[in-house]
Amino acid sequence: MIDPEVHGLDFDAYLKRVAALTDDVLIPAEREMVEAGEVPGQALDALARNGLFAISVPRDLGGLAWSMTQQVLLTLEFTRASCVYRSRFSTVIGLCSQAILDHGTEAQRTSRLPRMAAGEHITAFALTEPGAGSDAASLTTTARRTGDGWTIEGHKRYITNAHWADELIVFARTGSPSEGAAGVSAFFVPRRAEGVTTRLPSRMNGHAEAPVAEIDLAGVRVGDDALLGGRTGTGFAAALRGINHARLHVAATCVGQATRMLEETAAHLGSREQFGAPLADLGAVQGDLGRCYADLEAARALTLDAARAFDGGTVPRHRIAAAKLFASEAAGRIADRCVQLLGGEGIVGDHPVPRMWRDVRALRIYEGSSPVHERNLGRAVNRQVGRDGTLPDTYRVTRGAPPQP
Ligand SMILES: Cc1cc2nc3c(=O)[nH]c(=O)nc-3n(C[C@H](O)[C@H](O)[C@H](O)COP(=O)(O)OP(=O)(O)OC[C@H]3O[C@@H](n4cnc5c(N)ncnc54)[C@H](O)[C@@H]3O)c2cc1C
Repeated sequence: MIDPEVHGLDFDAYLKRVAALTDDVLIPAEREMVEAGEVPGQALDALARNGLFAISVPRDLGGLAWSMTQQVLLTLEFTRASCVYRSRFSTVIGLCSQAILDHGTEAQRTSRLPRMAAGEHITAFALTEPGAGSDAASLTTTARRTGDGWTIEGHKRYITNAHWADELIVFARTGSPSEGAAGVSAFFVPRRAEGVTTRLPSRMNGHAEAPVAEIDLAGVRVGDDALLGGRTGTGFAAALRGINHARLHVAATCVGQATRMLEETAAHLGSREQFGAPLADLGAVQGDLGRCYADLEAARALTLDAARAFDGGTVPRHRIAAAKLFASEAAGRIADRCVQLLGGEGIVGDHPVPRMWRDVRALRIYEGSSPVHERNLGRAVNRQVGRDGTLPDTYRVTRGAPPQP
């Protein structure tokens, strides 16, 4: 449940509260989390009480209704702590809540979103399958009409929060395979429904304390009211709505993680002496720090710029993809340089930077891997230039637009 006073805070006061939560609770609890191999219950409780599950949900549905720019600013703060904390509520605030908000029926919205915002109803987003990863539209899980409901059969993998979710949003084929994305629908499936089994992997390389899960769906029966939006064939559009929202959160996560890694590394370099002086005094080291800082600022600016465009009323999907691509690659470059600058401490012991180095690697794979974004953006450039000579999601002033003041 959200602490009552949180609802009365203006954004600046809320941002300060989240920054304090990060510094006073989340970062100090990282070591306990790593030792326990899971996010401590107290930290999860603090996330819920401080409204982190509610940032993207409208006020009339129990949320805090921050704009996308504000959600990005909040993410930059709370992901200075391990991004594993974010994993535990990411599927609620991005992928699932936004698909439900824009594509759910009134009953589906009002029955779920207030509990999701309070952190009392955890949802997972089950799209990826063993044979359908980057090519998600080729998924083979099926939902067949049986009696007055549906029977779902299939297998999902790599699903964040699936093992402890209350409910899964399962993407399944209701049309023929030849229909591709147009034959996909989304269903609410209680995780404890008969026929649902979840399994954790034997090992995670990064994100170890918030493992993804496999899901078997064997003859799972759900009613008609489990169909998202009450219509078949709209599952992929709903998935993309959640994914575009989540991609901006992921871009901001990359910046938050990189900020912490750079701060921690620069502090180490200022105190570690070699050749009779702090390492921070070496020109080559300063050059490394400068390149990291420039990468970080570029990623931050791109992410905030895409968020502002989002708040302008459209979903600028190409600029969002560019922000996610650049920020995740920049975080990878920064992580690698920071580990180098830490020397042996980057490999031996329990310094937070090498742990974050492992964690940020996954951010170049999920929410669209970097090569897939590059390919899609290149195709979009070719398509749009072929159409009217401009770039996708262009912000340049085109002929006929009113003069700018
Ligand atoms: C930590 C984590 C959390 C996740 N959480 C979720 C979740 O909550 N819900 C969910 O549904 N899924 C989730 N996923 C799955 C994620 O979306 C997929 O891993 C991702 O889409 C890639 O699919 P794949 O792993 O099958 O890789 P593949 O599709 O096998 O691709 C492997 C690699 O091949 C290359 N490649 C593939 N296609 C192309 C192309 N067209 N052009 C150029 N290169 C290409 C890329 O380098 C890519 O990384 C998660 C994954 C991870 C690692």
